Amino acid sequence: MDRIIIENLEVFARHGVFPEENVLGQKFLFSLTLWTDTRRAGISDALEDSVNYGEVCHLVQEYATSHTFRLLEALAENLVEELLIRYPSLSQVDLTIRKPWAPVGLPLESVGVAISRKRHLAFIALGSNMGDRRGYLDGAVRALRERRDCRVLQVSDYLVTEPYGGVEQEDFLNGALSLETFLSPEELLDVLHEIEAAADRRREVRWGPRTLDLDILLYDDLVLDLPQLTIPHREMHLRSFVLDPLRQIAPWKRHPLLGLTVESMAEKLRQNT
Ligand code: AMP
Repeated sequence: MDRIIIENLEVFARHGVFPEENVLGQKFLFSLTLWTDTRRAGISDALEDSVNYGEVCHLVQEYATSHTFRLLEALAENLVEELLIRYPSLSQVDLTIRKPWAPVGLPLESVGVAISRKRHLAFIALGSNMGDRRGYLDGAVRALRERRDCRVLQVSDYLVTEPYGGVEQEDFLNGALSLETFLSPEELLDVLHEIEAAADRRREVRWGPRTLDLDILLYDDLVLDLPQLTIPHREMHLRSFVLDPLRQIAPWKRHPLLGLTVESMAEKLRQNT
């Protein structure tokens, strides 16, 4: 991937753990690598087809001087998020912030923090079989749309499906959505749990009725197995109520372990039932 590079942009700002650093201020050096496809701009020779590095430098200066953080880690995290939100054509931002005058009490050239953040593509399954089912699913989509750290890309139709697991209950309404996010998988799961909790979700009977169920199906091509989180979702390839809505928005997306497309997993299930 192509990159635009800014090195050692000097900004006088007021970040630091010591109160005097927040008053007196000091010099900070910002170095950025902006990951973006420069092919279009390379052919057109037009600034509007690229990311304007002058504008980025001014944004960094403006952001760093209008906020005060104790930690360089927090400044870096917030600044990178701001850049990824402002510039949708950036797929990744690497940022190093150095403090040449850090009050360490020893001679040094500089101290600093370097981070690298990128957008992730996640697919979420939505389900409800209690009360205002459509309202709960719409509410979940709305809650995700309202977050700065998520961008909902596509939402499937909501499909009526029969309950799973043998408990006598109402039919489900199921959907799927794709979203771009800066959240880690664990953070995304926490967000989904918050949204479920806000929808009066009660976990009483396994497979039993629920106002809202949100699951992470896929997250980039990540394979993850933690006690509280498995990605890809363990049973996604066995559930037509997950695959049928998902095939509407991502038919050619491949399961990173099975190597099968959503379309072929859905078709396989249909033939077996
Ligand atoms: P349930 O909502 O009843 O389907 O179960 C949710 C629990 O499964 C959560 O508390 C998670 O810790 C766990 N879990 C494991 N993998 C996933 C996943 N991919 N998406 C959502 N929850 C998951």
